Amino acid sequence: MNSAAVVNFAPEKGSVEIREIPRPEIGNEDVLLEVANVGVCGSDLHQWTADHSWPVNYPVVLGHEFGGHIAALGKNVKGWKEGDRVVSETAAVIDKENPMTKQGLYNLDPTRKGFGYGVNGAMTRYVKVPARCLHNVPNSLSFEQACLTEPCCVAFNAVVGNGNIKPGDRVVVLGPGTIGILCAAMARLCGAEVAIVGLEADKGRLKIAEENYGCTPIIKDATPWAFERDGLGADMVIDAAGVSITLKNAINLVRPNGHISKVGWGKDPLGFSLDPLVQKNATLQGSFSHNWPIWERVIALLTSGALNVKPIIGGVWGIEDWHEAFEKMHKGEVVKSILKPV
Ligand SMILES: [Zn+2]
Repeated sequence: MNSAAVVNFAPEKGSVEIREIPRPEIGNEDVLLEVANVGVCGSDLHQWTADHSWPVNYPVVLGHEFGGHIAALGKNVKGWKEGDRVVSETAAVIDKENPMTKQGLYNLDPTRKGFGYGVNGAMTRYVKVPARCLHNVPNSLSFEQACLTEPCCVAFNAVVGNGNIKPGDRVVVLGPGTIGILCAAMARLCGAEVAIVGLEADKGRLKIAEENYGCTPIIKDATPWAFERDGLGADMVIDAAGVSITLKNAINLVRPNGHISKVGWGKDPLGFSLDPLVQKNATLQGSFSHNWPIWERVIALLTSGALNVKPIIGGVWGIEDWHEAFEKMHKGEVVKSILKPV
């Protein structure tokens, strides 16, 4: 039995279409996951518009932010049963012998392959998932929210794992996309005062961050806000903008001995001096992906309601309407689009 899937079939811009694909065969260590909901990620959009900087294994089913029910189990899978409600981590293929994997940082194994670019992802009815990727989703947490565990884990790692916010810190977030808004929400949970920065066109998304997460919205220049307290700058800057040049703003905004977490990707080279970073004795920290303990913590935050992702959900579309869902997010009309298999 075939199912409709959103397939990225070639490296050229716009090479995404609906294709009918067979139900995947699972191995002994895998489960077959019946997808309930799958979030559209900025990286899905990047592969669609062909301005991504990572290798893609064409043709590939898009989608790595997903949850659903276990439909079948491989014969070595223990601790799970058919019908269990789950979300899946993104590291679909890892090398168990890699030294990073051996210390629990399999997300940083350079040979890691993720859903939606390395192996078939979840924008379809059934996806093959290694059982080690699974996390339990309590009944009280809807799949529309649970499928956003992944971007919340990205934010958790950028703000908490790769930062050290103290209550009362001033934090500037550059870029009001999904990751930026979730980083801002996470910094608020840590007790920080948070400003989120975007352009005129981002007004709607900045308003969502203001009204739902208590952030100060700023169009363009965050300098006055960052320097308002003692004239030295923000304790932490989170660069979630997805263009390289914002790093210059981050370095200008951060206070001496402060911290910059860079979580946004941007493939363009930079054309400015990093001397101010040296002079400020500031830390510049890259932040990539997440691992098992982060997932457990984020699911707990979503379940308790401490972290509420409902305000960023701009709508739920059937798989066959992927184009509208992608387009709305691409234009910034919604923060996050969610798909549902049909
Ligand atoms: Zn993502």
